[in-house]
Amino acid sequence: MQVIIFAILSLIFIDSIYLTLPKFMKYEKHVQFQLGNKTITAKIRDGDYINAFSLYNGDIILTSASLNLKEEEIKAMIAHELGHIKLHHHIKMLILINILVFALLNSVTNILFFIPLAITLILFQRYLSRFFELQADSFATRIVDKEVLHEIIIKYGERKSNILSTHPSALTRIKKI
Ligand SMILES: [Zn+2]
Repeated sequence: MQVIIFAILSLIFIDSIYLTLPKFMKYEKHVQFQLGNKTITAKIRDGDYINAFSLYNGDIILTSASLNLKEEEIKAMIAHELGHIKLHHHIKMLILINILVFALLNSVTNILFFIPLAITLILFQRYLSRFFELQADSFATRIVDKEVLHEIIIKYGERKSNILSTHPSALTRIKKI
């Protein structure tokens, strides 16, 4: 019983941090992009590397270096992030992490059960993360040019991927688009 209470309190702590994170993010500026008939606002964070990510509340964030890319390329990155948002990947992943943490904390006293469960759940979480990346790519091709998305993935995607990676390799992503 105490373990369950501890697990619930841990999840409340983890979820509160995750859910309040957007309030603590600081941005340099906001830039608007036209994607089809929609105007998307990207929030810019200082960074000398190319990267884009999104948050569960719908925020799309780009590093300042990403603004040096061609507009088409920036739009391809935004379209991928829009895929994560529209397909509710953040909340689905949060639910999975809640299940994972709850299951692990409740089985920590039984090591024979805990280790295989931990391995299975972590591998599943990574598999789902890679699957979500492919889904976001596929979503992006509906609103931006496939070739531009290909170029961006080749230039900035992960070279290699394994069962613990959060992203598929650039080659896998291009094959699936
Ligand atoms: Zn992604």
